[in-house]
Amino acid sequence: MTWHWYFARAGEIFVDLDSGRKWRCFVRAQALPRFVRVEIVPSATIGHYHVRVELDRDLGEAERIALALHLGTDPLGAQHAMMRLARHIQPVTCLVTQNAFSRAADDRCECATKHDSLSAMLACPAGRTYRSHSTADWYGSTPWDVSPWE
Ligand SMILES: [Zn+2]
Repeated sequence: MTWHWYFARAGEIFVDLDSGRKWRCFVRAQALPRFVRVEIVPSATIGHYHVRVELDRDLGEAERIALALHLGTDPLGAQHAMMRLARHIQPVTCLVTQNAFSRAADDRCECATKHDSLSAMLACPAGRTYRSHSTADWYGSTPWDVSPWE
């Protein structure tokens, strides 16, 4: 299957919505005046969504991560982006999705499974290029059984 890799640009954010409650919160927030365009595609998990928001202005990386958190994005993904920002590792914010948005993806891969572990990332050509670190490298394993890659 084809996976589309998107790296957030200065005028866009990605929101990874991993629950129905977060979905409802996001729908209410869509009226924010700084949103120019919103695209929503299903993620690989039923009931979860990936969202691409075009903003009416360019924002810095940290402000875009904060806005994505405000809109309910997966906090572990945002934590990972903050660490990449702090360590000057590019791309800072990355979304990997099966369903393409309207703009061209920054890269693609043809992996058979979801990129939900460091070993899956290292088995992927794009994963090796863009995601060869995990938050566990910086902090040790999380105290809960959740992958920061999703
Ligand atoms: Zn891959």
